[in-house]
Amino acid sequence: MTTPVGGWASRREATGTPPASPGKGPGEPLGLGMPGVGSRGAARIAERERDGACAGDLVIAGVTPLSTCDWPGHLVATVFLQGCPWRCTYCHNYAILDPRAPGQVPWRTVRDLLSRRTGLLDGVVFSGGEPTRQPALADAMREVRAAGFGVGLHTGGAYPRRLATLLPLVDWVGYDVKAPRALYRAIVRAGGETTAADQAFEGLRLVLESGVDVQVRTTVDPTVLSDDDVAALTRELTALGVREHVLQTVRPDGTSDEYRAALAGVGALRAP
Ligand code: SF4
Repeated sequence: MTTPVGGWASRREATGTPPASPGKGPGEPLGLGMPGVGSRGAARIAERERDGACAGDLVIAGVTPLSTCDWPGHLVATVFLQGCPWRCTYCHNYAILDPRAPGQVPWRTVRDLLSRRTGLLDGVVFSGGEPTRQPALADAMREVRAAGFGVGLHTGGAYPRRLATLLPLVDWVGYDVKAPRALYRAIVRAGGETTAADQAFEGLRLVLESGVDVQVRTTVDPTVLSDDDVAALTRELTALGVREHVLQTVRPDGTSDEYRAALAGVGALRAP
């Protein structure tokens, strides 16, 4: 993922249990029915067999039933998927990083939520963690689309091959670029010297080539990036074809004591 823009639980209507339905009444059909009837259902089954994972396999850490900021200009539900291969300096989603942690919300809860919010929500944003880590994401996206909702994706591009297969299912991407290539590992703190940078820039290339609507954003870590680094990154992204590069300020709440001390050390946080 996705930069924890504001934190996955802090600025949204937190949940595991969606609020009372303002939508369809009892007995009306769900918007996200399971396939199994007719040619459309057969096609979905074939896709699942190819992918080897279905939406019900998603490991979901939490759901925000309504967000106005996770997909600019859209009212969405946001689904936070468990697990991330990176350990960013400023991450405040520690609980969501462990890929072995069990899910907190079953996919059927998302399905039920959407069935009650047809006409009220524009779409669903899959966030994390790093949502592209999970093979079941493609099937979940297909379900969301089949129910008439748009699909948004927050990603840092850690799995470019899977991202390539997902892009045809996505309407908008919030794409995190952490740093210029040479400083990538200093922020993500995982993999080899160039592993994360190679993945992230390959993922970005795929997104740009796909033509899908994208917002590229960078959370500026002042313990790693200078103003010149940020300016160089913006120039590189512009040269790659990025039209919008959004800079975000690090939020210290929820980060480690060590990181808050580092922020204080560069004058970006008042010492306690
Ligand atoms: S470690 Fe980095 S990419 Fe992973 S969830 Fe945290 S901020 Fe996002």
